Amino acid sequence: MQPVLRESAAINRGSIMSRYKSGAVGLRTSCLLVAVLTVMATATLVFSNDDDPPPPRLQRVTFNDSKSVTRTIESRVLLEAQDGGLLLEGRDGRLWNVTPKQLQNRDETGDSFQPLSAEQLGEQLSREVAEFGIKTSTQVVVTKHFVVCSTAGRVYAEWCGSLFERLHDAFHAYWTEAGLELRESEFPLPAVVLKDRTEFAEFATKHDRPDAAQAPGYFSEPTNRIILFDLTAGPNSTPAKTAGDIRRKLEASSFNVATMVHEVTHQLAFNSGLHTRYADNPRWLTEGMAMFFEVPDLDSRTGWKTIGRVNAPRLKDFRETLRTPREMLPLADLIQSDASFLKAEQARAAYSESWALTFFLLKTRRDDAVTYLKSVQRKPRLIADSPDDRLREFQSTFGELDTLERDWKKWMTRQGK
Ligand SMILES: [Zn+2]
Repeated sequence: MQPVLRESAAINRGSIMSRYKSGAVGLRTSCLLVAVLTVMATATLVFSNDDDPPPPRLQRVTFNDSKSVTRTIESRVLLEAQDGGLLLEGRDGRLWNVTPKQLQNRDETGDSFQPLSAEQLGEQLSREVAEFGIKTSTQVVVTKHFVVCSTAGRVYAEWCGSLFERLHDAFHAYWTEAGLELRESEFPLPAVVLKDRTEFAEFATKHDRPDAAQAPGYFSEPTNRIILFDLTAGPNSTPAKTAGDIRRKLEASSFNVATMVHEVTHQLAFNSGLHTRYADNPRWLTEGMAMFFEVPDLDSRTGWKTIGRVNAPRLKDFRETLRTPREMLPLADLIQSDASFLKAEQARAAYSESWALTFFLLKTRRDDAVTYLKSVQRKPRLIADSPDDRLREFQSTFGELDTLERDWKKWMTRQGK
């Protein structure tokens, strides 16, 4: 499967700015773009100091969404433009861009903003599944940090919840040890797990866009949800009935498990403060992080021992890219622009080089990598960096690019041997 299908570029992250810069503005994005540009102009006038935000208040906001559906959302205002455009965050963690034209009513309640409880979020996810025309009944499994709403049966949902929790703990432990302070998610983390690819395609098309249905699973940056389907349910196989069944079936398809881990890593990264949703996070970095963590560990019940190991399929892709110079993207291109991720003929190189670069930096220059991550963490939402800004920021931490590129390729040839 082509890496480009791992996730739909437009839905996986709030790539509004990068799409703006690359000029590849899709239908839905163009609707958002109006709001984005409005907010960008004046956002900093409202909340100029991230360290000292005003206490969040619950606002009930009524607006027509991009599909002309009238919605009333209980939310907090993250950004407000002078012309009245808003970036809202709902109690389920979903982000909404509202233009002045879409806005109908704004009711300041005076109450404080509270995320939905895990149980409330589970009920909301179940309603969404039903509203999208999926007839299979849902079951909700709540774990310490996740809410898994599934049509794939309780056993599979519980197995997912336990995998996600193990990854959560390993992810946080890794960054604590690296000296990067992250926070626990303010919101329970939503996952929708459909029983098969057909239901997944139906849900993904309505939740996001038709091209989302092609992915084997994805994290939706606007809605904060991960959307997956039961990987053990092949067209000619019976659903797994026990955790042992699930494990046996999944061991035969490690690529599929890597997809799940990859998408959960995106969700953890965007909810722990490693990245900020709708900030201009370089794509090589967000994808590189997800691939750094995606090597599954199904062996251990409690730990997660594979973080930082060579990602064999990505290394194979990287080696093949290295052997085909016309496919290899210059490091400067990868750092300055996200465009290669959106082009089918460049996506494999973009993913494998992003993994290799992240792997190299975290293995050989981890303190510098943490310094760089801290600078990316401070990026404001909805402000696009220029290609030059991106390059300057990267080089100010890692030094001159030619030297780094040479060292990187040399070091990579020794990996996996
Ligand atoms: Zn990804």
